[in-house]
Amino acid sequence: MPLLPIRLFGDPVLRQRAVEVTEFDDDLRRLADDMLLTLHSAAGAAIAANQVGVLRRIFVWELGEDRGALVNPTVEWTSDETQDGEEGCLSFPGLYFPTVRALRARLQGVDVHGEPRQESGEGVRARMLLHELDHLNGILFIDHLARHDRKEAMRRIRAGELEHPVDGQEGPVV
Ligand code: ZN
Repeated sequence: MPLLPIRLFGDPVLRQRAVEVTEFDDDLRRLADDMLLTLHSAAGAAIAANQVGVLRRIFVWELGEDRGALVNPTVEWTSDETQDGEEGCLSFPGLYFPTVRALRARLQGVDVHGEPRQESGEGVRARMLLHELDHLNGILFIDHLARHDRKEAMRRIRAGELEHPVDGQEGPVV
């Protein structure tokens, strides 16, 4: 199982919509395994296929013992109640910004065998589910930021901080 290179902001694949998975074969399961390994090695909480350069609708997560993969996800429900907290992304190493998300979310999809699966969460888990689904639609967390934070994010990206991330910030990296 090889580690997959993680695509950084600026790579066009992060702005493309991933396509529905139709083949639930060993190839898909290998991709899920490789993504989980890559995620674990990068110490992230979740990663979407776009982030490893694959335009298929699948993401995987690892929140402690809670690990899994969701394929062809759609939002079934989100709470009106929101949360505001620091969020990061493996494609923006070292960048964390307050990001408003629904407090609770429920996604519908299938597993790597094509069996129906529902994933719901509150707090960090809801944040993770919605962040990953966004990735599959070419949407990035900076799109959700307040205007001044988005400007600051772009300034730091232009200054080359993605290639040389600074330590010391916190937040789930998804
Ligand atoms: Zn991300």
